[in-house]
Amino acid sequence: MLEIKDLTVNIAALPEPILAIPHLSIPAAQQIAVMGPSGCGKSTFLNIISGLLKPTAGSVKWRQQELTALSATACDTWRFQHVGMVMQDFYLTNGLTALENVLLPLAFRHWRISDALKQRAESLLEQLNMPRRHSDVAKLSRGEMQRVAIARALLAQPQVIIADEPTASLDAENSRNIARLLLEISEKEKCTLLVATHDRFLSEQLQRRLLLQNGVIMSDQQTGAQPC
Ligand code: ADP
Ligand code: MG
Repeated sequence: MLEIKDLTVNIAALPEPILAIPHLSIPAAQQIAVMGPSGCGKSTFLNIISGLLKPTAGSVKWRQQELTALSATACDTWRFQHVGMVMQDFYLTNGLTALENVLLPLAFRHWRISDALKQRAESLLEQLNMPRRHSDVAKLSRGEMQRVAIARALLAQPQVIIADEPTASLDAENSRNIARLLLEISEKEKCTLLVATHDRFLSEQLQRRLLLQNGVIMSDQQTGAQPC
C-alpha cells in the first residue's frame, strides 16, 4: 500500500541527508513501530509519508497516489481524506472544548456534524478515558490534551493512522489505554498504523518494527505480534 523509493531528505545546513530510504514497502493494515534514539529521523519519516514534508528526492506512493506530485493544497486534501494524524505538538485550539476540538477539522471543511459523528466523538473521548469533554482544552493537562488529539485523529475513520510518540506525556495506565485503543481501532477498521514510539508495551504489540539511526533504517523486523 505504501511504496517508498530512493528517498532522501536534505537540510541545507547539513552535509548528510537527515533521512535516506532506498526502498520500503508497507502493506495495507500493517501495524508498525518506528523506533530509534531522539534525532534519528522518526518525525521526519512520519512527516514525509503523510505529505507534510516534501522529500529532496524520491518517490512516496500510497496505493496509486504519488504524494510528491501533489500541490500543497491537493496534499492537504489527500491527507484529510486518508490519514489520521497525532502529532508531537497537539495543535488544539484554546477557548474551545475537548469535544469541539475533536469535531473542528470536519467543521473547517464544512462537513455537516451529524448526531452520529457527535456520538462517535463522544464515544472516542470516553474510550480514551477523557470525561472532561466540555472543558476548555486550555485547562487540560498535557496527557488529557494528548487524548483529545488522538480522538480527533480517529474521528473520520482514516485508512492510515500516523502517531508521533502518542504515549509520551502519559502515565503508565493511560499509555496502556492509548496503546490498546490504537491497536483495537486499527484492527477493527483495517487501517494501517505507524507509530513513532519509545513505549515498550506499545511497540511489542505491533507487527513490525523499523529501527532508525541517523536517518537510515538499521533494522526492519516482523515481531511476531498478532493483531489484537
Ligand atoms: P526524531 O523524531 O527521531 O527525534 P527528527 O526527525 O525530529 O528526529 O529529526 C532528525 C534530525 O533532523 C535531527 O538531527 C534534527 O535536528 C534534524 N532536523 C529535523 N528537521 C530539521 C529542520 N527543519 N532543520 C534542521 N534540522 C532538522
Ligand atoms: Mg520526533
